[in-house]
Amino acid sequence: MRLKSIKLAGFKSFVDATTVHFPSNMCGVVGPNGCGKSNIIDAVRWVMGESSAKHLRGESMTDVIFKGSNSRKPANQASVELVFDNNEGRVTGEFAAYREISVKRTVNSDAKNIYYLNGSKCRRKDIMDVFLGTGLGPRSYAIISQGIISNLVESKPEELRVFIEEAAGISRYKERRRETENR
Ligand code: ATP
Ligand code: MG
Repeated sequence: MRLKSIKLAGFKSFVDATTVHFPSNMCGVVGPNGCGKSNIIDAVRWVMGESSAKHLRGESMTDVIFKGSNSRKPANQASVELVFDNNEGRVTGEFAAYREISVKRTVNSDAKNIYYLNGSKCRRKDIMDVFLGTGLGPRSYAIISQGIISNLVESKPEELRVFIEEAAGISRYKERRRETENR
């Protein structure tokens, strides 16, 4: 599943609405130190439901909101939208028929989060459900950050199994079974 574009507004250093397009399967983002390259990756993790500020290189969940500069006042909300290409039909279930899947998250300074799937408000869990098994969760292997390869090589068999089950598309069924058993 390919990420086609990302639209950021008020997120970290992206104070003005900015859309970044990824027109092909391999794209590079280049720029000087501190220009916001890693902030784009943080934004992808954040929309996919990341709920740990530490994993977003911040201390609190509202640290993702543009905090102001000498010339600009702080933003009162952060918003990021990802648009995925679903032409290969990787997403199954309710959203299977859509050729594009848009996922959006906003947060305001009171830490109120709102999530959207193809423009309609939804729960964080709905986003997790749609992407479970596609490798696109907030901590999934779609994002390979520094240190993750050595973690993988050194992981215990039961930890390795989690990665393999996600790659094989089994995790979505395991999650449903867990939900049913807990009812
Ligand atoms: P490097 O090449 O060093 O890895 P980078 O391009 O990955 O750099 P980022 O880490 O994405 O850079 O961006 C860091 C910049 O984002 C810093 O200047 C930091 O002040 C700014 N930044 C982070 N959070 C916020 C925020 N909430 N408000 C305003 N600016 C922010
Ligand atoms: Mg960086």
